[in-house]
Amino acid sequence: MDPEAPSSHFSNCTHCGFCLAVCPTYKLTGDENNSPRGRLRLWSEEAAGRLPPDKWTDFYTEECVGCLACETACPATVPYGEIFERIRHQHVVSHRSQPKMALRLAAAAVAIPSLFNLALLPGRILRQTGLSFHRFLFPGRPPVLKSSAAYAAELMSQRRPTGPRVAFLTGCLMEAMFREINFATIRVLIENNVQVLIPLDQGCCGAFQEHTGLGDPEALGARNRRAFSSLDVDAVVSNSSGCGYALGKSLKPGGSVRDVLGFLGDLGPVRRERAPGDATRVYVDLPCHLVHGQKTPGIPAQVLDATGYRWELAPNSRDCCGSGGVYNIQKPENARAILAAKSAFLNEAEGQPVVLATSNHVCMMQWHSAGATGLVKRAYEVRHVIQLLDPGADFS
Ligand code: SF4
Ligand code: SF4
Repeated sequence: MDPEAPSSHFSNCTHCGFCLAVCPTYKLTGDENNSPRGRLRLWSEEAAGRLPPDKWTDFYTEECVGCLACETACPATVPYGEIFERIRHQHVVSHRSQPKMALRLAAAAVAIPSLFNLALLPGRILRQTGLSFHRFLFPGRPPVLKSSAAYAAELMSQRRPTGPRVAFLTGCLMEAMFREINFATIRVLIENNVQVLIPLDQGCCGAFQEHTGLGDPEALGARNRRAFSSLDVDAVVSNSSGCGYALGKSLKPGGSVRDVLGFLGDLGPVRRERAPGDATRVYVDLPCHLVHGQKTPGIPAQVLDATGYRWELAPNSRDCCGSGGVYNIQKPENARAILAAKSAFLNEAEGQPVVLATSNHVCMMQWHSAGATGLVKRAYEVRHVIQLLDPGADFS
C-alpha cells in the first residue's frame, strides 16, 4: 500500500455534498466535519500542509464507520474507502490512533488461524451449549471440534456433486465462533450440486486489519493469492460480505470473489417448502460491504424466494446498521444510536416468528445486540440467509 495518500484523490471531490445524506455519522451529528466531504477536506488540508495534524482530525477520522455508502452516492467516483483505509493505517502506525487492547490482541491472533480457532474454543462451547449471553453472540450451535474443511470433504465424498467447483473462504471469526453458518453454506452448496473445495492454507482475508488499521493486509493478501489462485475452480465464494470484499481486493487483478448468495442466485437454488399457514416473516437487511463494497445489487430475489418464507426488505435496508466491522466495539455509543434508528421497526413488525436475515456475521452480531440491549423489546431471530435455505432451519 502506498504510504502517502496522493492529493489528486482528494481533489476529485467537487464538494457537491451528495454524500452527506447517506452518511450515518453526519445524520447522527449534523456536523460537516463528521461527513465524507468534511473528512476529505480535513485530510487534504493536512496533506497540503495547510492544517497541522491535530486531535480533531484524528477524532473525525475515528468517527467514520467505514460503511462506504458515500462511495455509492458520489458522482465524482472519489475512492473514499481506499483513502480512508490508508489514512486510518497511517494514524495507527504513527500512534495518532490506538485501537482498543482487545482488538490489538485479536488482530495478532487472526494472523495465525489455528491459534485464533483455539482461543475461541470456549466461545464455541458456550454457544453450542446455549450458555452464551454476550450481546453480540446470537444463538446457534457451532460444531466444536470438526472443521468446515473436514465437513466439506466428508459431505463431498458422500454426495459427489458434479456441478461447478468453488473454493470457499471460511473466514476467521466465522470459522472460530460461527461455524454453524459455514456448515450450512457447505450443505446448501452441495445440495445444489456444487463441488466445494476449502484451501487449507487460506488465511485471514484482511478485513479485520482494514477495520482497525492494524497489521499488514498485504502480507495476508499474498498468502491468500497463493492459496486461492492455484486452484482450478469456477469461482471463489464467501458467505460474509465484508470478508468477500477484502479477499476480492487481495485477489485482484486476475481474480474475484463471489458472494455465495449471488452465486446461488445464478444457479437457481433448490426451493424449501414450508408448512401451510407458516406465519414466519423474514426482514432482509443488506450489508454495506455487499452493496457499497462489492457493489452488487444485493441478495437475489430468487434466493430469498427459495427460502419458502414470506420476505421483504427491511426499511432502509441499504443503510448501515452501525456494525462497521469493529465500529460497535470502538465507538459503541455511535453504533447503538445508528442501530436504534434502523432496528425500531422490529418492535411493530408483522409475523410470528419474526426473522431478521442478512449475509454478514458482524451485521448479525449487531442486529442481535438490538434485542440483547433493549432497543427491540419483542422476540425475533437473527439468521444468515444461507441458513434459511438449509434443510435444518425451522422457526415454526
Ligand atoms: S464511510 Fe460511511 S460513515 Fe464514513 S464518511 Fe462514508 S458514509 Fe460516512
Ligand atoms: S459526493 Fe463525492 S464529490 Fe460530492 S462531496 Fe461527497 S465525496 Fe465530494
